[in-house]
Amino acid sequence: MSVLAIDAGTTGVTAVVVDPDGSIAAKGYQEFAQHFPQPGWVEHTPEEIWQATLEATREVLTKIDQSTLTGIGITNQRETIVLWDRETLGSPRRAIVWQDRRTAEICERLKADGHEARVSELTGLRLDPYFSGTKLTWIRENEPHTWALVESGRYAIGTVDSYLIARMTRGLHHVTDVSNASRTLLFDLTTGDWSDELCGLFGVPRDALPELVPNWGVIGTTDPRTFCGLSLPIAGLAGDQQSALFGQTCFDAGDSKCTYGTGSFLLTNTGTTIERSDAGLLTTAAWRSPAGETTYALEGAIFVTGAAVQWLRDGLQIVGTAAETAAIAGAVASSEGVVFVPALTGLGAPHWDPHARGTILGITRGTTRGHLVRATLEAIAFEVRDVLETVPQKLASLRVDGGAAANDLLCQVQADQVGVPVERPRIVETTALGAAFLAGLGTGLWGSTEDLRETWQLDRRFEPGARDDRAWARWQQAVERSKGWALL
Ligand code: ADP
Repeated sequence: MSVLAIDAGTTGVTAVVVDPDGSIAAKGYQEFAQHFPQPGWVEHTPEEIWQATLEATREVLTKIDQSTLTGIGITNQRETIVLWDRETLGSPRRAIVWQDRRTAEICERLKADGHEARVSELTGLRLDPYFSGTKLTWIRENEPHTWALVESGRYAIGTVDSYLIARMTRGLHHVTDVSNASRTLLFDLTTGDWSDELCGLFGVPRDALPELVPNWGVIGTTDPRTFCGLSLPIAGLAGDQQSALFGQTCFDAGDSKCTYGTGSFLLTNTGTTIERSDAGLLTTAAWRSPAGETTYALEGAIFVTGAAVQWLRDGLQIVGTAAETAAIAGAVASSEGVVFVPALTGLGAPHWDPHARGTILGITRGTTRGHLVRATLEAIAFEVRDVLETVPQKLASLRVDGGAAANDLLCQVQADQVGVPVERPRIVETTALGAAFLAGLGTGLWGSTEDLRETWQLDRRFEPGARDDRAWARWQQAVERSKGWALL
């Protein structure tokens, strides 16, 4: 017996099969294209996300006996908004991705009109282009023909989880969960439902939004005609960061994790209490049980961390693979004063400046690729330290995961910077693992979260060493200089 989990991430889709002991029996992966139609814009083609899902699933099915599968769980890049035709399941436009900054002006307008305090009160979020609400407002204002069909009920709106479930079930289900809904700016944290007031403010018809379902329990069944011949109960779903929190078995209030993927996201479970931060953290729903109990979290969302490494590889082409950055950075003793603020899509927590842009300072004639690569890894650690400084609960250790957590040098610099041990589990694909856990709870493969807790295993613990406070001071200066750049 095992479960299939689909992690529809920002750069690609991973499919994993998870066994009852929490180990990953097989894995498939398919990257998909990133589209940058204008500076600051980021889009994905929904059909490509779907095809990547099928490809990753086909790959994993070649490695296991599919008759052992008992259910499927789905986790996804959050905030990214997809439209599709309820009849044909085709999409009239590309998805607008969470990293997309095109709605900075709409956010400014709403702030100038005095809406921010009320929006924050209802949603736990801020008026930032990151969230889905203003992305929908943008489509409404700029693509009236498309929007008319949203209004008429022909086009459905959803996050990537809703879209994939619609595709897997041939349009039978239009659903999402609280972890995704609470990132849209349309969800009222206190009532736990879509808000008419917010739908009115952003101009979104409530009927176009998905139905909210619990995070585990059977929602529907995949249609074998479209989904790789599989007829599986869809029994778990969650947005990627909440899924990683679940995958790290952070079930209790105070449990925290940091995921290092395209961006980095520090989440602290706050139990059934809606805690608020005035220091730049977001309040978000983590998951809702079939009995209707909602668990919440505080979140520090950093937009560009692993994506900065990707930029070294694809944009600058000074590294061949993300993995080799550890060795290249390790070959120099320090970054020798080079500081890189990877505000490539603005700054998220705790600074929240959509107009900030990437900044490299301190270059000399002696600067080499090694210094810049090291400065990139240090930047990731500094960004996470910036967020941790604002978290009210002091952590005894930091649990890490995600693609870039495989980087030993990064984990060590992180431990040095935050002054607490960094713990890396054996499985760093925690996002996918969380979706598998949810689906396994939903189908009875695991009886309770206690069973899941036993599956967590330590790979390596990085003890904090000397903290370089001069480097930290330089970093803070550099962040200030990156702010507001796009406005100049
Ligand atoms: P996502 O789910 O956001 O697509 P992943 O968890 O798959 O992200 O992680 C991929 C990201 O991690 C990429 O941005 C990549 O550049 C970065 N990455 C992967 N391996 C390493 C590594 N060894 N060192 C540093 N960064 C890495």
